Amino acid sequence: MKLGILSRSPNAYSTQRLKVAALERGHEARVLNTLRFGIDLAGDEPDLQFRGKQLSDYDAVIPRIGASVTFFGLAVVRQFEQMDVYTPNTAAGIANSRDKLRSIQILSRHEIGIPRTMFVRDRKDVKPAIEGVGGAPVVIKLLEGTQGIGVILAPDNKVAEAVVETLQSTSQNVLIQQFIAESRGRDVRALVVGDRVVAAMRRVAQGDEFRSNVHRGGRTELVELDDEYSRVAVQAAQIMGLRVAGVDMLESDRGPLVMEVNSSPGLEGIETATGLDVAGAIIDFCASQVAFPELDVRQRLSISTAYGVSEVHIHDGSSLVGKTLDEGLADRDIKVLTLNRGPKVIPNPKGSREMEAGDRLVCFGKLESMRDLVPARRRRRRPKVQPLPDEPIPAEYADGS
Ligand code: ADP
Repeated sequence: MKLGILSRSPNAYSTQRLKVAALERGHEARVLNTLRFGIDLAGDEPDLQFRGKQLSDYDAVIPRIGASVTFFGLAVVRQFEQMDVYTPNTAAGIANSRDKLRSIQILSRHEIGIPRTMFVRDRKDVKPAIEGVGGAPVVIKLLEGTQGIGVILAPDNKVAEAVVETLQSTSQNVLIQQFIAESRGRDVRALVVGDRVVAAMRRVAQGDEFRSNVHRGGRTELVELDDEYSRVAVQAAQIMGLRVAGVDMLESDRGPLVMEVNSSPGLEGIETATGLDVAGAIIDFCASQVAFPELDVRQRLSISTAYGVSEVHIHDGSSLVGKTLDEGLADRDIKVLTLNRGPKVIPNPKGSREMEAGDRLVCFGKLESMRDLVPARRRRRRPKVQPLPDEPIPAEYADGS
């Protein structure tokens, strides 16, 4: 394949390793400076210019987009997608991973543990938010911080409130997060490629520091991931829309808690710690997928609003329990794309498979024939925190707007 590595740092360890791994495997590989592209929407088809000239044909790209060039970088990746060039990480996936709030918002509805987190804007909501995550000590995080900068441990509620208010007064967006004391300054980084963890390491903070970032003096050690940690890492990456990702997890008493999913994970630390050829695994994966660039289902299914994809839940007592997919659904012209049973996902299940209570099916078909199978809107659990007594409504909102 002909591979482009999108990076502003041709000499960086990760860029070099990807290039060399591709060349070693007989591929053609070039590092392309992300900021030298021109998004060309002037012709009949989406196109790209590079250094002022039309870009030659590429089969795949590996984006390594730094935080400071996110906007332009994502436009470039999106343009490659429109040109049907394969990328393991889509622009949407990279955007999802870019802020800590957005990523855990997306993960929170799935079977993925995350530290209890609150995000508020109004001063009056800061105190209930701190209590909502269990009270001090709490971790306060800048939404777009990296390398541990902007991650603060507040020992008591008063300090926490003061820190949040101070940061907010300088227009910074901050998360308030439960402090996972039992992880004792350690976290796990799992490098996901496709549907497996190809390498993992533990990072251990120095002294009484609670942040384990290598930039904060943390050291790395080898770790054997158990199945639950591997499953969570792979699933978190996939939910975010990333096929290559570094998933950071805290080791809590209730199992892995995902803190962050990184779309341009550095390779130096993990290759050094594990001695594994992670770059090679990424190149092999891209080569195996290159014929299947990401397809935006919503764009391509716009035949009619009468058809669509929906999730069907099989409840205890449903008439579908015990019926095969053919009997229960094929007759209604509903195609089952995946069957989710507990942590297991069965793609393209056979029509002879029987449905069980608790199954979740992702189906394609006429929305009308799925209507009575789609669960009623989920009722929300009782709030964890007692609501505060009603406050007087400020005059500007008193008309109910
Ligand atoms: P960054 O993206 O800047 O690295 P992280 O959210 O990953 O920020 O936090 C930095 C480090 O702080 C983590 O690697 C972890 O060691 C520690 N940490 C972060 N959140 C928590 C938490 N809720 N409980 C305990 N330790 C945490």
